[in-house]
Amino acid sequence: MQEQRALGEILMRHGVVAEEALEALYAEQREKPVELFDLVVQNRLATDIDVARALARECGLDFADDIDLDAITLADATRLPLGYARSHRLLVLKEYEDSVAVICGDPLDTAALDDVRATFGKRLVVTVAPPAVVNEAINRVYERQETTSDLEGGEHADNADTIDILESDDDAPIIRWVNSLFAQAAKERASDIHIEPEEKEVLVRYRVDGELYIARRASRQFMSSVIARVKIMAGLNIAEKRLPQDGRISLRIAGRAIDVRVSTVPTSRDHERIVMRLLNKTNVLLDLPDLGFSQRDFLLMDSLVRRPDGIILVTGPTGSGKTTTLYACINRINHPNINILTAEDPVEYEISGIHQVPVQPKIGLTFASALRAFLRQDPDVIMVGEIRDKETAEIAMHASMTGHLVLSTIHTNDAASAFTRLVQMEIEAFRVRSTIVGILAQRLVRVLCPHCKEGYPGTPYELEQLGIDPARTRRRDDRRLSPAYIARSANEIVDYEPVGWRHVEPPTLYRARGCSICDSKGFTGRLGIYELLMADDAVGEAVMQSSDAQSIRRVAQARGMDTLRDDGARKALLGITTVEEVVAATQDDMFDE
Ligand SMILES: [Zn+2]
Repeated sequence: MQEQRALGEILMRHGVVAEEALEALYAEQREKPVELFDLVVQNRLATDIDVARALARECGLDFADDIDLDAITLADATRLPLGYARSHRLLVLKEYEDSVAVICGDPLDTAALDDVRATFGKRLVVTVAPPAVVNEAINRVYERQETTSDLEGGEHADNADTIDILESDDDAPIIRWVNSLFAQAAKERASDIHIEPEEKEVLVRYRVDGELYIARRASRQFMSSVIARVKIMAGLNIAEKRLPQDGRISLRIAGRAIDVRVSTVPTSRDHERIVMRLLNKTNVLLDLPDLGFSQRDFLLMDSLVRRPDGIILVTGPTGSGKTTTLYACINRINHPNINILTAEDPVEYEISGIHQVPVQPKIGLTFASALRAFLRQDPDVIMVGEIRDKETAEIAMHASMTGHLVLSTIHTNDAASAFTRLVQMEIEAFRVRSTIVGILAQRLVRVLCPHCKEGYPGTPYELEQLGIDPARTRRRDDRRLSPAYIARSANEIVDYEPVGWRHVEPPTLYRARGCSICDSKGFTGRLGIYELLMADDAVGEAVMQSSDAQSIRRVAQARGMDTLRDDGARKALLGITTVEEVVAATQDDMFDE
């Protein structure tokens, strides 16, 4: 791709991106076809809002970070074909007597603006918005054209069980409706779709960022057809309605591969209820830098996964993103010259280049037996889904001591308690000390929508909840000067981001508001908060002396460990999430020092 130097110059002139940073991006553009705009945003040199605002200023145009969809006239907007609107990031809002209001993501695309001017034969009133905002608005507006609501809000008689998709000659709307469920779910990044029979209607709920909400309703007379359609897609037995069933659907939506795990359960309402879990490959396969670690934690994690031996544990409750983190670790080191084997329950994603074994306890293939077999398979790195018994723990330790890197999870609330848990499994303290190299505790918090989040001065109570006070911040700063705190990776001295605040002024915190981009939810996606305990000599000493998690934790903190709540506080101060999210995710995290 050609270097977009003209755009680069503009960004430099408006102080959005520094010259040196741009040279690196140009070099990247010579290698692969990526828009400079996207590179700037991906590398977090500036937000899409900053870039779009600079472009607007350069071109002398108005800027908007949100689009009021209600102000758009569908007939005017759709005079531009959808493909054209998408590829030029351009949306017609409304045609007036002597002008046309247009919103665009790329005001430098003057040829496209000329096209619109020619199409309408009027002068244009152009507003610039971030491309993501424009794309989202385009999707919303053009989808109004297509009606997917044939089944919704119907006032038909409730003659349940009369329509069966196999007999029905009117199956096209059902197929379309079910397909649109998947499409909408993918667009909203839903992790689950629930289809539930209610007394008078069918309810469809989506789980987005951990929260369920009602997405659609349909007349109950279509329930059988909808269930049958999903069952056919998932390869299930349509006739069997009295027993639970499990199946799988592989889909491609807008070029993205999505695996769907389908589960049906009979209910007392004559119909089965269906829950579908969507596994989005692009969501699962992240790299370490995508996980939102602090600089220190990132460098330490990066050095841990590159070790030749040792055990790295990830802890946290179910649904705290442990698997995503393990996959990211493996993704980081996945290379043809390393033999990586995993035992998982189940295999969530097939990663090319590594060998994954689904455990099946029913036939005797447990984590322990898989692990034992792996040792005869000449591995370099072994990932085992969970250490939950003494046998698995012992083989993992044996693997580590014989020169293998082992990645696994263990079920504890905080990092230090993982030591206690292993000792409870009757593993000798010295073996724990000599094999465990690092323990990462984690939780997920919802990420504020960058387009509508609202800053406000934090109250003393909120700061107290986050564990932030000037005295504590000062103590933490003092600790940072000690050599023990320096991350030893690639000989880099880390420039630590502050966790606390020192000033008299209350720092700015952020709350959710809701806009058209985030579907009025105020949040988009989730991110981990972390507590990385490095099992260095001092921590090892503490493990040998006592299995009390509290004292191990204190030693680790003195060596520079930030607790879950510390990392949460950092992310609240950075405007990534809210105080409520952090407090809810770290309720059982005590803080003292
Ligand atoms: Zn928003």
